[in-house]
Parts: sequence; C-alpha cells; structure tokens
Amino acid sequence: MEPIAPITGGCLCGGVRYEIGVAPLQSTLCHCSMCRKATGGVLVPWVTVPVTALLIVKGDLRRYKSSAPAVRSFCPDCGTQITFWHEARAGEIDVTHGSLDDPDAFPPTLQIFAASRPKFMKGFDPALPSRDEY
Ligand SMILES: [Zn+2]
Ligand SMILES: [Zn+2]
Repeated sequence: MEPIAPITGGCLCGGVRYEIGVAPLQSTLCHCSMCRKATGGVLVPWVTVPVTALLIVKGDLRRYKSSAPAVRSFCPDCGTQITFWHEARAGEIDVTHGSLDDPDAFPPTLQIFAASRPKFMKGFDPALPSRDEY
C-alpha cells in the first residue's frame, strides 16, 4: 500500500478522531439489515482499509460483537458508528463513510447486500454495480 496524506475523520461529538494512512482498498454502499439497525440509517457507505492503517488519534472506541463473526465500534459518548470488522476479512476493517471529514474523497463503487434493500429504496439507483450479498 502506498502511503498517502492521512485521511481524517471522527465522531459527531469530536471525542473520537482517527487517521488512515493508505488509500482505501474499496468503497461500498451496504444495504444489509444489520447496518441499518447499527446506525439507524437506511444504507451505510463504508471504506475498507487494512486494519493496521487505521490509527485512533483521540479517544477510545467501544466495541461489541454484532454477530458471531463480527465486531462493530462506536463513540461511547455520542454513538457515532465508526468501524466494522469481520473474521472472514481479518486483515481489513471497514470505516463509516459518514465519519470521514471529506465524504467525497472515496466515492462508493459497489453496492453490497442489495437484495436486502427496503422496498421504498428499490427506486434508488446510484448506477453502481450491485451484489445481492457480500
Ligand atoms: Zn463522539
Ligand atoms: Zn452492512
């Protein structure tokens, strides 16, 4: 991975700040039901980076198992969801697009779990390739 100027981001209250020192591996829009429940949003964009590239520079994340193979994290003060990690992709971690300081830096290029989109979102088509599952 080529080092780049750090990508910065953090939670709503400012208690958690992070930096990412390499270009993301991918950028996705997730339509799965667990991301909906975790964030309260109707879809969740993620940037995927190597686990070692994510540096928490301020505050601490609270982590929880959101399913047997997965761990999510959030700011314990304001609740902003920050990361998703899955044991099948143990060397990678997903970071919420919405917590990036520049949400336009790495536009999503792929939709995942598109089969789980709510019915009212069926007409929402950002013209990106789409997979029914991961
Ligand atoms: Zn916060
Ligand atoms: Zn998801």
